[in-house]
Amino acid sequence: MQQEDKDTLRDTISKEIIDIQKQINTLQEKTKPISPDCSLGRLTRLEAMGEQHVYHKILDQSQIRLTRLTNALSRIDKQMFGICIECEEPIGMGRMSIRPESVRCVDCAGLL
Ligand SMILES: [Zn+2]
Repeated sequence: MQQEDKDTLRDTISKEIIDIQKQINTLQEKTKPISPDCSLGRLTRLEAMGEQHVYHKILDQSQIRLTRLTNALSRIDKQMFGICIECEEPIGMGRMSIRPESVRCVDCAGLL
């Protein structure tokens, strides 16, 4: 991978990490336990709990993505960065700019 491309990706990753951290903070607010004596009616309370379930799922996914992006950032200067771990061919820049945490090319990830 070209140094230029790496610089572009480093920017992309850094921005995404900031976005995801903001998202995680918001989600952590939303997934705080609902206090039992809150003034919500029973139905509203059930709805709120249902919503929280969804937020918990998104929070889990965001935290996984954050870990992957952080790892990608620490790998970016290594030779193996942008090289598929299966076939050892370079992963396309198109894919890397969308998912810079990719460790497999489109073929090996079974995306075709
Ligand atoms: Zn591959």
